[in-house]
Amino acid sequence: MKMTVNRIRVVVLGSPRSGKSAVVVRYLTKRYIGEYSSTGDFLYQHRVAFDGVVSEVEILDTSNCAIRGCLGDHVRWGDAFAVVYSVCERRSFLAAAELLSLLERTRLPGCAAITLLGNKRDLEHAREVHAEEGQELSLRFGCQFYEVSAAESCAGAALAFHALLREARALALLLPAPRRKLAAYSVSKVIGTIFGKNSKSVRKKRPSLSI
Ligand code: GDP
Ligand code: MG
Repeated sequence: MKMTVNRIRVVVLGSPRSGKSAVVVRYLTKRYIGEYSSTGDFLYQHRVAFDGVVSEVEILDTSNCAIRGCLGDHVRWGDAFAVVYSVCERRSFLAAAELLSLLERTRLPGCAAITLLGNKRDLEHAREVHAEEGQELSLRFGCQFYEVSAAESCAGAALAFHALLREARALALLLPAPRRKLAAYSVSKVIGTIFGKNSKSVRKKRPSLSI
């Protein structure tokens, strides 16, 4: 079978401590690492093969990007977005809703693949957000939705990322890259409205790690 290679840029967004890094590392290495010293963004590069297609995937694991002023850059840069919240922290769910709203307002409908991930589903006793609320939010924004536990298993993160990459591949076939990029507009204006600050973003140096 003929193998095609395309490039997909995935941006992982969400509140601090929602488990973004844990989910990304779980997906990439199948391991769970409980604590990360990193306070900056991390760019991982890897090559995935499924459905008979090979893709070069870059995953940007972000950290505090709204506060550091690089959220606008990230939104323009990505083809696909994973918005993570913790099912144990309602505040992180509300922040996820704001991020989905930002993506909706700054990317033309259907021009970016988006998934909503409710992480830490293993902590049932501490749950603050019901699964149905995640479903309703994803329905409202027309995105995918998974509840996962980076701590407990590999399967959830793998399923969620594969589904996201599948959608991103389909979009790449439908829309050439320049059109997808043009679809991101007035990002800094919208972020300014949400976070109440002027996001004249400075392009940050991203550490890069290949797996
Ligand atoms: P980030 O700031 O969003 O990148 O969050 P981290 O990946 O650094 O995780 C924040 C904290 O949540 C760490 O103490 C992790 O060990 C913990 N954590 C992450 N994912 C899970 C999970 O699925 N279940 C549990 N119980 N803890 C998790
Ligand atoms: Mg992190």
